[in-house]
Amino acid sequence: MKASELYAPTLRESPAEAELTSHKLMFRAGIIRKAAGGIYSYLPLGWRTMKKIMQIIREEMDAKGGQEIMMPITQPAELWKESGRWDVYGDEMMRMKDRHGREFCLGPTHEEMITSLIRNEVRSYKQLPLMLYQIQNKYRDEIRPRFGLMRSREFVMKDLYSFDKDVDGMNVSYQKMYDAYAKIFTRCGLKFRPVEADNGAIGGGHSHEFTVLAPSGESNIAYCEKCDYAASDEKAELKTIKAEPEEMKPLEKVETPNAHTIELVKDFLNVPIEKTIKAVAFQDDDGRLILAFVRGDHEVNEIKILNAVEGALHLHMAEESAIIAAGGSPGFMSPMGIKDGTIIVADSTVMEMYNAVAGANETDKHFINVNPQRDFDRKKIIVADIRLVKEGDPCPKCGEPLKMTRGIEVGQVFTLGQKYSKSLGATFLDENGKETFFEMGCYGIGVGRTMAAAIEQNNDEDGIIWNRAIAPFEVVVVPVNAKNEDQLDYATKLYEELKNSGIDALLDDRKERAGVKFKDCDLIGYPIRITVSPKTLESGEVEIKIRKSGEIMNFKREECTKKISELLKNL
Ligand code: ATP
Ligand code: MG
Repeated sequence: MKASELYAPTLRESPAEAELTSHKLMFRAGIIRKAAGGIYSYLPLGWRTMKKIMQIIREEMDAKGGQEIMMPITQPAELWKESGRWDVYGDEMMRMKDRHGREFCLGPTHEEMITSLIRNEVRSYKQLPLMLYQIQNKYRDEIRPRFGLMRSREFVMKDLYSFDKDVDGMNVSYQKMYDAYAKIFTRCGLKFRPVEADNGAIGGGHSHEFTVLAPSGESNIAYCEKCDYAASDEKAELKTIKAEPEEMKPLEKVETPNAHTIELVKDFLNVPIEKTIKAVAFQDDDGRLILAFVRGDHEVNEIKILNAVEGALHLHMAEESAIIAAGGSPGFMSPMGIKDGTIIVADSTVMEMYNAVAGANETDKHFINVNPQRDFDRKKIIVADIRLVKEGDPCPKCGEPLKMTRGIEVGQVFTLGQKYSKSLGATFLDENGKETFFEMGCYGIGVGRTMAAAIEQNNDEDGIIWNRAIAPFEVVVVPVNAKNEDQLDYATKLYEELKNSGIDALLDDRKERAGVKFKDCDLIGYPIRITVSPKTLESGEVEIKIRKSGEIMNFKREECTKKISELLKNL
């Protein structure tokens, strides 16, 4: 490809809304352009990288026995009603009606579609295991589309679905995909970690998120340096902390004027924060009031609360009126005296506290000497691990203090079990001729997000630093003065030689100043730049610059292609 014919509009400035480095660089390097919030076009350079990532994904999916298919983006509502997710998915689902008033959505994911695809046709255990995948656009009307391709509303996803005859088979498929994902992200040159994850609305058994480590990431990850434990903060399990047992003193109500936060009440009563119980009030989609209690210095984990409370799908901050109607007083709450029918969830650590401070459900009043084991009505509350992990919490595997880091979730693997095969009635005949539900798994990779994460992890003040495997071009040949025919001719021959030996090269034959071309090369981030200057023509030596290290090397013309092939192996 010749740069004079390449549509790669580079920019000096990035749009004001771009916060993340990767987002800015994708604009400036001519990789994407915005059409609407969270909706983008990919320009040639961007699409080349996308295609390379997709190729790596395809190779690794196929290597594990995956077969590529293409399902419709437009999905009939009936399927989603069958699975029960038409209502669950909420505003994130892009819905539409056809001219006859029939309801459809633009696929945010394809469990329903694929299950319906195979349910009447895969009839025997002999046809299993089956792994089908596709790479296509997905649609999610994200509440806050941002960071360019990281969180967009239309995005390219690879989604594979596995069908097995039993749980053991499903676990084998899961492991295959786990291994394939590790290979894919390694081949893309990313520093990543598979972390234990919550299953979210998708439901089912276990799950890992493949997370690219980057300070700008939206996921919080707790990890252990001593063992291999890593989990998203939503998932990280925590052990109950047992307070030193004390003699239980009589419960007492005290005045705490204006002390409506934990900070204020601990200062007012002069007690350590570990002796206080904090309340957080939520309501779910049905308006049910959910009161959550954790130790004063802990934070609630909303995902764990959702998992603990049957039927709760989303949490919203509670309306004051709902709190008051339940007999509570905002800022001064405890489980004691709350009307029946309110859902109360206490963190298991709270139940092990002695002589603690908690709200009295009256404005400006708290209880002291609260002993949850004695004072909370166990029959009326759900006790569970609902606390959010924080740096220093003990590792659930080995007990060492956990560390926290941030990451970008680029892929996720789930076991689904029979969730969808049951709700959509997908069965096959097992070895004994018995109707059995498929054991399923689903496995997604965000292709655009992977590209963005790669940029986020590999850049400097001059621009992007591509890993060779996913660079739009591996090598750029730059005649410093393309108006000079000898230089252009020399550069063209070298470029053709590189291409003939299988290197993905670009010839920057634009009649621009050398400085402009070099700046573009650095911004776009080709792994290797070859400069053809008057000196090259005289000396017969070619100058090579490695984008990543900034190193400059000189190779003899006749060795050039061989040397570049070798260099590329490590870039
Ligand atoms: P998130 O928690 O970030 O919203 P998710 O867990 O809902 O993502 P999955 O359903 O697991 O996403 O989708 C598989 C992959 O698709 C994700 O790992 C991610 O790489 C990608 N992805 C999901 N949502 C988006 C989005 N809005 N924009 C770009 N990529 C996305
Ligand atoms: Mg996910």
